[in-house]
Amino acid sequence: MNQTFDALNRFIERGTRFLVVSHLNPDGDAIGSTLAMGYALRKLGKEVTMVNESPVPDKFLFLPGADEIRLPEEVDGMFDTVIALDCADRARIGTAVNLFAESARVANVDHHVTNDLFGDVNVVVPRAAATAEILFDWIDGGAVDWDDALAGTVYTGLLTDTGGFRYSNATPAVFRKAAKLVETGAHAHRIADLVLETLTMEQIRLIRIALSSLQRSEDGKIAWIRLRREDFEQSGQSRQDVDGIVNYARNIIGVDVGILIRESDAGSVKVSLRSRERVDVGKIAKELGGGGHARAAGFTARGTLDEVEQMILQHVRAELGRDGQ
Ligand code: 5GP
Ligand code: MN
Repeated sequence: MNQTFDALNRFIERGTRFLVVSHLNPDGDAIGSTLAMGYALRKLGKEVTMVNESPVPDKFLFLPGADEIRLPEEVDGMFDTVIALDCADRARIGTAVNLFAESARVANVDHHVTNDLFGDVNVVVPRAAATAEILFDWIDGGAVDWDDALAGTVYTGLLTDTGGFRYSNATPAVFRKAAKLVETGAHAHRIADLVLETLTMEQIRLIRIALSSLQRSEDGKIAWIRLRREDFEQSGQSRQDVDGIVNYARNIIGVDVGILIRESDAGSVKVSLRSRERVDVGKIAKELGGGGHARAAGFTARGTLDEVEQMILQHVRAELGRDGQ
Protein backbone atom coordinates (compact mmCIF):
# COMPACT_ATOMS: atom_id res chain seq x y z
CA MET A 1 0.00 0.00 0.00
CA ASN A 2 3.09 2.23 -0.21
CA GLN A 3 2.67 3.16 3.41
CA THR A 4 5.78 4.34 5.19
CA PHE A 5 6.52 2.83 8.55
CA ASP A 6 9.60 4.92 9.38
CA ALA A 7 7.95 6.82 12.23
CA LEU A 8 6.49 3.61 13.72
CA ASN A 9 9.85 1.83 13.46
CA ARG A 10 11.63 4.72 15.19
CA PHE A 11 8.93 4.75 17.88
CA ILE A 12 9.47 1.02 18.48
CA GLU A 13 13.27 1.24 18.40
CA ARG A 14 13.23 3.82 21.19
CA GLY A 15 10.96 1.89 23.57
CA THR A 16 11.72 -1.11 25.77
CA ARG A 17 8.48 -1.82 27.65
CA PHE A 18 5.30 -1.66 25.57
CA LEU A 19 1.61 -1.65 26.33
CA VAL A 20 -0.43 -2.94 23.39
CA VAL A 21 -4.14 -2.06 23.44
CA SER A 22 -7.13 -2.17 21.16
CA HIS A 23 -10.80 -1.21 21.30
CA LEU A 24 -13.32 -2.37 23.89
CA ASN A 25 -15.65 -5.18 22.85
CA PRO A 26 -12.85 -6.43 20.62
CA ASP A 27 -13.52 -8.09 17.28
CA GLY A 28 -11.20 -10.36 15.29
CA ASP A 29 -9.19 -7.45 13.93
CA ALA A 30 -8.68 -5.98 17.41
CA ILE A 31 -7.60 -9.31 18.93
CA GLY A 32 -5.60 -10.49 15.89
CA SER A 33 -3.78 -7.16 15.62
CA THR A 34 -3.03 -7.02 19.36
CA LEU A 35 -1.49 -10.50 19.25
CA ALA A 36 0.41 -9.88 16.01
CA MET A 37 1.90 -6.65 17.34
CA GLY A 38 2.66 -8.37 20.68
CA TYR A 39 4.58 -11.21 18.99
CA ALA A 40 6.38 -8.86 16.63
CA LEU A 41 7.54 -6.66 19.50
CA ARG A 42 8.77 -9.70 21.42
CA LYS A 43 10.67 -10.85 18.34
CA LEU A 44 12.31 -7.44 18.40
CA GLY A 45 13.40 -8.07 22.00
CA LYS A 46 10.82 -5.81 23.64
CA GLU A 47 8.86 -6.40 26.84
CA VAL A 48 5.14 -6.52 26.02
CA THR A 49 1.91 -6.32 28.02
CA MET A 50 -1.31 -6.78 26.04
CA VAL A 51 -4.49 -5.34 27.53
CA ASN A 52 -8.13 -4.92 26.59
CA GLU A 53 -10.95 -3.35 28.58
CA SER A 54 -13.18 -6.33 27.73
CA PRO A 55 -12.45 -10.04 28.09
CA VAL A 56 -11.33 -11.79 24.91
CA PRO A 57 -14.43 -13.41 23.34
CA ASP A 58 -14.27 -17.20 23.75
CA LYS A 59 -14.09 -17.83 20.02
CA PHE A 60 -10.67 -16.14 19.81
CA LEU A 61 -9.14 -18.00 22.75
CA PHE A 62 -7.65 -20.62 20.41
CA LEU A 63 -5.28 -18.00 18.99
CA PRO A 64 -1.81 -18.46 20.45
CA GLY A 65 -1.23 -15.91 23.21
CA ALA A 66 -4.90 -14.88 23.50
CA ASP A 67 -4.89 -15.96 27.15
CA GLU A 68 -2.13 -13.40 27.80
CA ILE A 69 -4.38 -10.45 26.97
CA ARG A 70 -5.16 -8.98 30.38
CA LEU A 71 -7.94 -6.82 31.77
CA PRO A 72 -6.67 -3.36 32.89
CA GLU A 73 -7.33 -4.15 36.55
CA GLU A 74 -5.08 -7.23 36.36
CA VAL A 75 -2.04 -5.16 35.41
CA ASP A 76 0.27 -3.33 37.82
CA GLY A 77 2.19 -0.21 36.95
CA MET A 78 2.00 2.39 34.23
CA PHE A 79 3.41 2.45 30.71
CA ASP A 80 5.36 5.13 28.86
CA THR A 81 5.11 3.50 25.46
CA VAL A 82 1.75 2.45 24.05
CA ILE A 83 0.62 1.02 20.74
CA ALA A 84 -3.14 1.39 20.12
CA LEU A 85 -4.54 -0.80 17.36
CA ASP A 86 -7.86 -0.52 15.50
CA CYS A 87 -8.99 2.42 17.67
CA ALA A 88 -10.51 5.39 15.81
CA ASP A 89 -10.20 7.62 18.86
CA ARG A 90 -8.89 7.54 22.41
CA ALA A 91 -12.34 6.81 23.88
CA ARG A 92 -12.36 3.44 22.06
CA ILE A 93 -9.43 2.31 24.22
CA GLY A 94 -11.79 2.44 27.21
CA THR A 95 -10.42 1.89 30.71
CA ALA A 96 -7.09 0.58 29.37
CA VAL A 97 -6.07 4.28 29.27
CA ASN A 98 -5.77 4.05 33.06
CA LEU A 99 -2.46 2.27 32.43
CA PHE A 100 -1.00 5.13 30.38
CA ALA A 101 1.63 7.18 32.23
CA GLU A 102 0.94 10.91 32.06
CA SER A 103 3.84 11.41 29.68
CA ALA A 104 3.05 8.25 27.68
CA ARG A 105 3.84 8.33 23.96
CA VAL A 106 1.21 6.60 21.86
CA ALA A 107 1.44 5.07 18.41
CA ASN A 108 -2.00 4.90 16.76
CA VAL A 109 -2.22 2.20 14.08
CA ASP A 110 -5.69 2.06 12.52
CA HIS A 111 -7.77 1.92 9.35
CA HIS A 112 -10.91 3.86 10.32
CA VAL A 113 -11.62 6.83 8.08
CA THR A 114 -13.06 8.54 11.18
CA ASN A 115 -9.71 8.28 13.05
CA ASP A 116 -8.91 11.57 14.80
CA LEU A 117 -5.10 11.07 14.81
CA PHE A 118 -4.89 10.94 18.62
CA GLY A 119 -1.41 9.40 18.65
CA ASP A 120 2.06 10.92 18.85
CA VAL A 121 2.76 8.69 15.86
CA ASN A 122 -0.19 7.97 13.57
CA VAL A 123 -0.23 5.17 11.02
CA VAL A 124 -3.79 5.59 9.79
CA VAL A 125 -4.61 3.95 6.48
CA PRO A 126 -8.34 4.19 5.66
CA ARG A 127 -7.94 2.21 2.44
CA ALA A 128 -6.71 -0.80 4.44
CA ALA A 129 -9.39 -3.47 4.89
CA ALA A 130 -8.27 -4.11 8.45
CA THR A 131 -5.68 -2.91 10.92
CA ALA A 132 -4.26 -6.40 10.36
CA GLU A 133 -3.67 -5.46 6.72
CA ILE A 134 -1.51 -2.53 7.84
CA LEU A 135 0.40 -4.91 10.13
CA PHE A 136 0.78 -7.32 7.20
CA ASP A 137 2.50 -4.59 5.19
CA TRP A 138 4.67 -3.60 8.12
CA ILE A 139 5.79 -7.17 8.80
CA ASP A 140 6.10 -8.10 5.13
CA GLY A 141 8.21 -5.00 4.58
CA GLY A 142 10.81 -6.65 6.80
CA ALA A 143 9.94 -5.52 10.34
CA VAL A 144 10.20 -9.15 11.59
CA ASP A 145 10.21 -12.63 10.02
CA TRP A 146 6.89 -14.35 9.44
CA ASP A 147 5.98 -17.41 11.53
CA ASP A 148 2.81 -19.47 12.12
CA ALA A 149 1.57 -17.38 15.01
CA LEU A 150 2.02 -14.08 13.19
CA ALA A 151 0.41 -15.45 10.04
CA GLY A 152 -2.61 -16.84 11.91
CA THR A 153 -3.30 -13.71 13.92
CA VAL A 154 -2.94 -11.34 10.95
CA TYR A 155 -5.12 -13.70 8.89
CA THR A 156 -7.83 -13.61 11.59
CA GLY A 157 -7.98 -9.81 11.37
CA LEU A 158 -8.21 -9.86 7.57
CA LEU A 159 -10.85 -12.58 7.60
CA THR A 160 -13.15 -10.98 10.15
CA ASP A 161 -12.98 -7.35 8.98
CA THR A 162 -13.81 -8.41 5.41
CA GLY A 163 -16.75 -10.53 6.63
CA GLY A 164 -15.01 -13.67 5.43
CA PHE A 165 -13.63 -11.94 2.29
CA ARG A 166 -17.15 -10.93 1.23
CA TYR A 167 -17.32 -7.16 1.84
CA SER A 168 -16.27 -4.49 -0.65
CA ASN A 169 -12.97 -4.08 1.20
CA ALA A 170 -11.88 -7.58 0.06
CA THR A 171 -9.61 -6.22 -2.67
CA PRO A 172 -7.29 -8.22 -4.92
CA ALA A 173 -4.44 -7.11 -2.63
CA VAL A 174 -6.28 -8.55 0.39
CA PHE A 175 -6.67 -11.92 -1.36
CA ARG A 176 -2.98 -11.95 -2.30
CA LYS A 177 -2.00 -11.15 1.28
CA ALA A 178 -4.37 -13.83 2.62
CA ALA A 179 -2.82 -16.35 0.22
CA LYS A 180 0.65 -15.50 1.47
CA LEU A 181 -0.51 -15.91 5.08
CA VAL A 182 -1.95 -19.35 4.32
CA GLU A 183 1.32 -20.33 2.61
CA THR A 184 3.20 -19.05 5.65
CA GLY A 185 1.25 -21.08 8.21
CA ALA A 186 -2.23 -19.64 8.81
CA HIS A 187 -4.76 -22.48 9.11
CA ALA A 188 -7.47 -20.90 6.98
CA HIS A 189 -10.08 -23.61 7.38
CA ARG A 190 -9.61 -23.97 11.13
CA ILE A 191 -9.69 -20.23 11.75
CA ALA A 192 -12.83 -19.75 9.60
CA ASP A 193 -14.54 -22.67 11.32
CA LEU A 194 -13.81 -21.42 14.85
CA VAL A 195 -14.33 -17.72 14.22
CA LEU A 196 -17.13 -17.57 11.65
CA GLU A 197 -18.95 -20.89 11.69
CA THR A 198 -19.13 -21.91 15.33
CA LEU A 199 -21.87 -20.69 17.66
CA THR A 200 -22.73 -21.55 21.24
CA MET A 201 -26.27 -22.51 22.22
CA GLU A 202 -26.45 -19.22 24.15
CA GLN A 203 -25.69 -17.31 20.95
CA ILE A 204 -28.35 -19.24 19.06
CA ARG A 205 -30.88 -18.43 21.80
CA LEU A 206 -29.97 -14.76 21.56
CA ILE A 207 -30.34 -14.85 17.76
CA ARG A 208 -33.80 -16.37 18.20
CA ILE A 209 -34.82 -13.55 20.55
CA ALA A 210 -33.18 -10.96 18.28
CA LEU A 211 -35.03 -12.19 15.20
CA SER A 212 -38.36 -12.00 17.01
CA SER A 213 -37.73 -8.24 17.45
CA LEU A 214 -36.85 -7.62 13.79
CA GLN A 215 -38.77 -4.80 12.11
CA ARG A 216 -38.61 -3.28 8.66
CA SER A 217 -39.50 0.19 7.41
CA GLU A 218 -42.50 0.54 5.11
CA ASP A 219 -40.31 1.13 2.08
CA GLY A 220 -38.28 -1.95 2.99
CA LYS A 221 -34.96 -0.09 2.99
CA ILE A 222 -34.24 -0.17 6.72
CA ALA A 223 -34.45 -3.15 9.06
CA TRP A 224 -33.65 -3.15 12.75
CA ILE A 225 -33.29 -5.45 15.71
CA ARG A 226 -33.59 -4.54 19.38
CA LEU A 227 -32.04 -6.34 22.32
CA ARG A 228 -32.99 -5.51 25.88
CA ARG A 229 -30.91 -6.30 28.92
CA GLU A 230 -33.32 -9.07 29.94
CA ASP A 231 -32.86 -10.68 26.50
CA PHE A 232 -29.18 -11.21 27.28
CA GLU A 233 -30.06 -12.61 30.69
CA GLN A 234 -32.67 -14.93 29.21
CA SER A 235 -30.29 -16.29 26.57
CA GLY A 236 -27.34 -16.65 28.93
CA GLN A 237 -25.19 -14.89 26.32
CA SER A 238 -22.86 -12.14 27.51
CA ARG A 239 -23.51 -8.63 26.29
CA GLN A 240 -20.13 -8.47 24.58
CA ASP A 241 -20.50 -10.85 21.73
CA VAL A 242 -23.35 -10.00 19.40
CA ASP A 243 -21.18 -10.37 16.30
CA GLY A 244 -23.18 -11.05 13.19
CA ILE A 245 -26.67 -10.39 14.59
CA VAL A 246 -26.93 -7.02 12.81
CA ASN A 247 -26.28 -8.81 9.51
CA TYR A 248 -29.68 -10.53 9.69
CA ALA A 249 -31.28 -7.08 9.36
CA ARG A 250 -28.95 -5.87 6.61
CA ASN A 251 -29.15 -9.15 4.66
CA ILE A 252 -32.89 -8.92 3.91
CA ILE A 253 -33.42 -8.37 0.21
CA GLY A 254 -34.09 -4.71 -0.55
CA VAL A 255 -32.65 -3.47 2.74
CA ASP A 256 -29.80 -1.00 2.53
CA VAL A 257 -29.32 -0.24 6.23
CA GLY A 258 -29.45 -2.85 8.99
CA ILE A 259 -29.40 -1.67 12.60
CA LEU A 260 -28.85 -3.42 15.92
CA ILE A 261 -29.95 -1.39 18.94
CA ARG A 262 -28.96 -2.95 22.22
CA GLU A 263 -29.15 -1.91 25.82
CA SER A 264 -25.82 -1.92 27.59
CA ASP A 265 -25.32 -0.39 31.00
CA ALA A 266 -28.13 1.52 32.67
CA GLY A 267 -29.07 4.43 30.50
CA SER A 268 -26.73 3.60 27.65
CA VAL A 269 -27.61 2.06 24.29
CA LYS A 270 -25.14 0.68 21.74
CA VAL A 271 -26.06 0.96 18.08
CA SER A 272 -24.44 -1.04 15.26
CA LEU A 273 -25.03 0.06 11.68
CA ARG A 274 -24.43 -1.88 8.47
CA SER A 275 -25.16 -0.73 4.96
CA ARG A 276 -25.28 -2.67 1.75
CA GLU A 277 -24.18 -0.03 -0.76
CA ARG A 278 -25.88 3.36 -0.56
CA VAL A 279 -25.83 4.99 2.84
CA ASP A 280 -22.50 5.98 4.43
CA VAL A 281 -23.22 4.77 7.96
CA GLY A 282 -19.75 5.88 9.13
CA LYS A 283 -20.85 9.47 8.54
CA ILE A 284 -24.06 8.98 10.55
CA ALA A 285 -22.19 7.28 13.41
CA LYS A 286 -19.59 10.03 13.50
CA GLU A 287 -22.31 12.71 13.72
CA LEU A 288 -23.72 10.84 16.70
CA GLY A 289 -20.42 10.60 18.56
CA GLY A 290 -19.18 7.24 17.24
CA GLY A 291 -17.38 6.21 14.10
CA GLY A 292 -16.46 3.38 11.77
CA HIS A 293 -16.51 2.76 8.05
CA ALA A 294 -18.97 3.54 5.24
CA ARG A 295 -20.46 0.02 5.37
CA ALA A 296 -20.04 -0.76 9.12
CA ALA A 297 -20.14 1.71 11.96
CA GLY A 298 -21.44 2.23 15.48
CA PHE A 299 -21.97 4.58 18.40
CA THR A 300 -23.22 4.65 21.97
CA ALA A 301 -26.09 6.92 23.02
CA ARG A 302 -27.83 7.75 26.25
CA GLY A 303 -31.58 7.27 26.52
CA THR A 304 -34.09 4.46 26.40
CA LEU A 305 -34.21 1.85 23.63
CA ASP A 306 -37.34 3.57 22.25
CA GLU A 307 -35.70 7.00 22.20
CA VAL A 308 -32.53 5.77 20.54
CA GLU A 309 -34.56 3.73 18.04
CA GLN A 310 -36.55 6.82 16.97
CA MET A 311 -33.43 8.96 16.82
CA ILE A 312 -31.36 6.59 14.66
CA LEU A 313 -34.27 5.82 12.33
CA GLN A 314 -34.70 9.54 11.77
CA HIS A 315 -31.02 9.94 10.87
CA VAL A 316 -30.99 6.96 8.53
CA ARG A 317 -34.23 8.06 6.82
CA ALA A 318 -32.79 11.55 6.30
CA GLU A 319 -29.65 10.07 4.77
CA LEU A 320 -31.64 7.75 2.49
CA GLY A 321 -33.79 10.75 1.47
CA ARG A 322 -30.71 12.85 0.71
CA ASP A 323 -29.48 10.02 -1.45
CA GLY A 324 -32.61 10.52 -3.59
CA GLN A 325 -33.64 6.90 -3.04
P1 5GP B 1 -19.75 -2.77 15.61
O1 5GP B 1 -21.08 -2.29 15.15
O2 5GP B 1 -19.46 -4.16 15.14
O3 5GP B 1 -19.51 -2.57 17.07
O4 5GP B 1 -18.69 -1.84 14.89
C1 5GP B 1 -18.67 -1.64 13.51
C2 5GP B 1 -17.57 -0.67 13.16
O5 5GP B 1 -17.82 0.61 13.74
C3 5GP B 1 -16.20 -1.07 13.65
O6 5GP B 1 -15.26 -0.66 12.69
C4 5GP B 1 -16.04 -0.29 14.93
O7 5GP B 1 -14.70 -0.03 15.19
C5 5GP B 1 -16.82 0.98 14.66
N1 5GP B 1 -17.49 1.46 15.87
C6 5GP B 1 -18.49 0.84 16.54
N2 5GP B 1 -18.87 1.56 17.62
C7 5GP B 1 -18.09 2.66 17.62
C8 5GP B 1 -17.99 3.79 18.52
O8 5GP B 1 -18.71 3.93 19.51
N3 5GP B 1 -17.03 4.71 18.20
C9 5GP B 1 -16.24 4.58 17.11
N4 5GP B 1 -15.32 5.54 16.88
N5 5GP B 1 -16.30 3.53 16.27
C10 5GP B 1 -17.21 2.59 16.52
MN1 MN C 1 -10.71 -3.16 12.11
